[in-house]
Amino acid sequence: MKASRSSFPYASAVSGVQDLTPYSPGKPIEEVERELGIPNATKLASNENPLGPTPLVLAAMRECLDSIALYPDASCFRLKNALSNHLNVPPGQMTLGNGSNDVLDLVTRVFVGPGDEVIFSQYAFLVYALVAKAVGGETRVTPAADWGHDLMAMADGVTERTKVIFIANPNNPTGTYNTESELKTFLASVPSEVIVVLDEAYFEYVRKPDYPDGLEFINEHSNLIVVRTFSKAYGLAGLRIGYGIASEQITDLLNRVRQPFNVSQAAQIGALAALEDPEHIARSRELNQQQMRRLCTACDELGLPYIPSVANFLTIEFGQDAAKIQRSLLEQGIIVRPLDNYEMPHHLRVTIGRSHEIDQLIDAVKVLL
Ligand SMILES: *Cc1c(COP(=O)(O)O)cnc(C)c1O
Repeated sequence: MKASRSSFPYASAVSGVQDLTPYSPGKPIEEVERELGIPNATKLASNENPLGPTPLVLAAMRECLDSIALYPDASCFRLKNALSNHLNVPPGQMTLGNGSNDVLDLVTRVFVGPGDEVIFSQYAFLVYALVAKAVGGETRVTPAADWGHDLMAMADGVTERTKVIFIANPNNPTGTYNTESELKTFLASVPSEVIVVLDEAYFEYVRKPDYPDGLEFINEHSNLIVVRTFSKAYGLAGLRIGYGIASEQITDLLNRVRQPFNVSQAAQIGALAALEDPEHIARSRELNQQQMRRLCTACDELGLPYIPSVANFLTIEFGQDAAKIQRSLLEQGIIVRPLDNYEMPHHLRVTIGRSHEIDQLIDAVKVLL
């Protein structure tokens, strides 16, 4: 759509919104099947869990169908208590969101006004720019180091106008992570009145001994907000539920702007049931590790460079041909994620699927090369 900025209604929009480009999601499977007339597309584009959720979720959610005429529990009482046991964090330090993106949005609505600065890294998750600009914030993008976040550059980027710093650990779409010692040094060097958002959407997948658990720093750093989600390892992307953990005071502020019924009853019940099956998470992590290894080996054999990833996706460099490869894969019913809007036009991001899906992808890529 061509926005004619000088006339109504574009001219009336707040300036941050005038400059916004909407988030471009992975193509839904149905859309691809409809457009290409193929019945069984394979979606490796949105970092969803190929195993889906534990069956406990579906069983629990069937029971909540009888109560859809009623508003959900606005305080998420039962879920917060379960999460409290799971994470060893008091319920008063939790903010539930309609996906963790909702929590990111609450953060900028509370802390960022027109002219305030928000810092994030080059190649960071695009939603940070979106939620910052929507409230009139100025974005300051620090250069990446080896595709990952350079935390010292981010700390050095702080000015008197900086209100929020977003860190994705691991980052999407690069799969890179920052170590515990990097995070410690960073937190120690950021002024205590600058809010640090540590987005741990892929926390459950990471298996590195030097990968930090952000929750361990919450009590020491009252400016820290750790954000996690049920969309990835828990397999509940369609339910829309995530959460933020922070001090009671920050939690109080976030709660002031939160829509009262931002998390549906189905999502609350589904997430509660998901927490009851830690083995499903272990299985998902195991599958991810195996198939990640297979895909990396195949890339090595094909001479395709990739960015080493600790998450459930791999970002592969196809050079000038990336767009062509993406379209050809699509024609074969394999949906992967182009990264033009991350200014990574030579890369494609591939979600780690089940064994047969990774086979299908490897075979298709071999033919194309
Ligand atoms: C997928 C993802 C999220 C999760 O978004 P939801 O709104 O919880 O589905 C958050 N941050 C990053 C970096 C992600 O990749």
